[in-house]
Amino acid sequence: MQCSKPLRGFTLVELLAVVLVLSVLAAIAVPLYVNTRKTSAARACQANLASIASAETAYATRFGAYCGGTTADTSWAAAYTAATAAGNAPTGGLIGAPEGLASAPACPLDATSAYTVQAVSGGACTISCPSRASHATDTGAAVTKWIVQLAAPGADRSNGY
Ligand SMILES: [Zn+2]
Repeated sequence: MQCSKPLRGFTLVELLAVVLVLSVLAAIAVPLYVNTRKTSAARACQANLASIASAETAYATRFGAYCGGTTADTSWAAAYTAATAAGNAPTGGLIGAPEGLASAPACPLDATSAYTVQAVSGGACTISCPSRASHATDTGAAVTKWIVQLAAPGADRSNGY
C-alpha cells in the first residue's frame, strides 16, 4: 500500500528563515575569528621579539656589542635568507653565532618585512616589528609593546634583558 500523503518540500519562507539564522551566526562568528587571529599574531610577534632580544643579548655578551647597524637595519635577516637560499649554512651576525637564532623570524602579520635591529647611541639596541602600529590597533595596547630596548652591554640590566 502506498502512502497517500504527498511529499512536501520546504516553503520559501522556511528557506528564508534558515538563511537568516545562518547569516546572523556568520555575522557573529567571522569578526570574532578575525579578531582572535590578529591578537594571536600580535602575541606571536612579541615572542619573536623576545627571541631576537635573547640572541642579541648572547651576542653582546660574547662580542661586547650588539649586532645591528646604526640605522634601521634588517640585514641580519637578509644575510640568513641569502645564505640558506644558496644552500649554505648562515655565517656571521646574529644568525651565525652559536648562541644566536636558528632562523630569521618574521612577523605573522607581515612575513615579507624583517624585524628592525638598530644600535643606538651609547651601545644600546632597539628591536622593533615593522607592523607594530597594526598590532597596537588590533589589540588596543601601546605600540611600545612591539619595541624592545636593550641596555648597552655592561650597563644596568634592570629592564630584564
Ligand atoms: Zn609583528
